[in-house]
Amino acid sequence: METLEFQAEARQLLQLMVHSIYSNKDIFLRELISNASDALDKLRLATLQDGLEADTSDLHIEIEADSEARTLTVRDNGIGMTHEEVVDLIGTIAKSGTAELLTKLREAKESPELIGQFGVGFYSTFMVADRVELVTRKAGTEGHGTRWESAGEGTFTIDDAPDVPVGTTVTVHLRPKDEEDALYDYADERKIKEIVKRYSDFISFPIRMLSGEQVETLNSMKALWARPRSEVTDEEYNQFYRHISHDWSDPLEIINMKAEGTFEYEALLFLPSRAPHDLFQRDSRRGLQLYVKRVFIMDDGKELIPDYLRFVKGVVDAADLSLNISREILQQDRHIQMIRRRLVKKVLSTIKDLLNNNAEKYATFWREFGKALKEGLLNDPDNQKAILDVATFSSTAGTEPTTLAAYVERMKEGQEEIYYLTGDSRSQVENSPHMEAFQAQGYEVLILTDPVDEIWVEAVPDYDGKKLQSIARGSVDLPKDAEEPEPEGDFAPLLTFLKEKLDEQVKDVRLSHRLTTSAACLVSDTDDITPALEKMYRAMGQ
Ligand code: ADP
Ligand code: MG
Repeated sequence: METLEFQAEARQLLQLMVHSIYSNKDIFLRELISNASDALDKLRLATLQDGLEADTSDLHIEIEADSEARTLTVRDNGIGMTHEEVVDLIGTIAKSGTAELLTKLREAKESPELIGQFGVGFYSTFMVADRVELVTRKAGTEGHGTRWESAGEGTFTIDDAPDVPVGTTVTVHLRPKDEEDALYDYADERKIKEIVKRYSDFISFPIRMLSGEQVETLNSMKALWARPRSEVTDEEYNQFYRHISHDWSDPLEIINMKAEGTFEYEALLFLPSRAPHDLFQRDSRRGLQLYVKRVFIMDDGKELIPDYLRFVKGVVDAADLSLNISREILQQDRHIQMIRRRLVKKVLSTIKDLLNNNAEKYATFWREFGKALKEGLLNDPDNQKAILDVATFSSTAGTEPTTLAAYVERMKEGQEEIYYLTGDSRSQVENSPHMEAFQAQGYEVLILTDPVDEIWVEAVPDYDGKKLQSIARGSVDLPKDAEEPEPEGDFAPLLTFLKEKLDEQVKDVRLSHRLTTSAACLVSDTDDITPALEKMYRAMGQ
């Protein structure tokens, strides 16, 4: 038997679990069941794809509670783990974002949703356990299995275990019963049934409870996406969403799709009501799962949805794909590309519906995901117009964001272009000297303050035939009723003087009628990059 130390970050995380700072401890069971379900998926996939020889005729999860011994056991006959895998997967947290998680956990003591968001799954057992045992044997290996055990403090032990069936058994030694709070009795079968029903009903493998001679299946295993919307309650959808997204809140919008004919698929998509913490991190996960005829194939379906819609969660179940399909093949598959195009159109049209019919939901959506969606203006030229149609922007016309269509409606007589100014914040943009003449003459200017705004405006030539024009560039054609610029006349010596003095810093010095109160301002040539973009490139080392 070996005693090993948890990796430092894992230890910190365990500390937080042991001294459980969460009010909802029930979720530890959801985490164990979800791991068991993953392991069953993996075993089935390995037999289909890698030719692994294993019995998959009765894949299932078993739960057993012993209220006298105060233990709760969750057993699966899934893929199992090798000795090395147990050490690696359970003893360390190899996931990115862990440091950030720890900081956040310390800051926000009452945030149960963080557990799910960061997927610290297995460790959550230590919220309710004195000690946890895990016994496992990897499918396809002969003989010994592995036993792992820990009390959640700095170390764990690991040992060979003879005569272990394929799969994994986790035994949770529950803490002494808290007499004051009967709710936390996880050795109570009623309590277990209730939790399984609430969190794990749609798990596609049977979850069986063994109580004495009796065996009872606790979950319904219904594939929600395969049922007509009218037969599913909002609560069922919400639960399913929470399961696949690890989000704690309800989704903002539910989207059903079904295609019949030459290529059949069903999809159940969700727009979340808030952005995940890692939305703008490089390795952030996609939220789409791919199934083939109810069989789970893969998570993180990058091939199914473009990057800029990475926040969309859900399931796509395609009828005619091979179970053997690999990511490489998926990328080139004509059907997958077609599904992807349809998903994009459907998501964009759903957002448009929100914009037209549900201002409150739209505002939430745009606040949380507008920045990501705008990336599509750069990366998805085919849908540029559709994205612009559902985008809203701050403007000098009022405090409410405006669509481009509404801006165009309000354009003054003779105005040919859509004016915008980029900057770090609304107040910075509003107080910019560039703004003065436009404000004074009552021209509306869009206020663009997201970093991505700097970039997409370069990629979008026009909206509805109206050019997007930065008011910080070149000599913006000021409206016709503006006064002609004064002849240089008296100012010629001053201009020459300034040009000489500033020779190194500026290209030209001109009189301007764009200012009303400021004495001078800096403008870029039409083709020059804007100062903010320059700053961004510099930050990127270019
Ligand atoms: P996650 O499920 O998000 O990966 P967990 O902490 O829940 O994180 O589990 C860590 C890893 O341990 C899993 O990814 C899996 O590889 C392994 N694991 C946990 N439970 C099981 C199980 N019942 N069978 C096989 N592997 C498991
Ligand atoms: Mg897990």
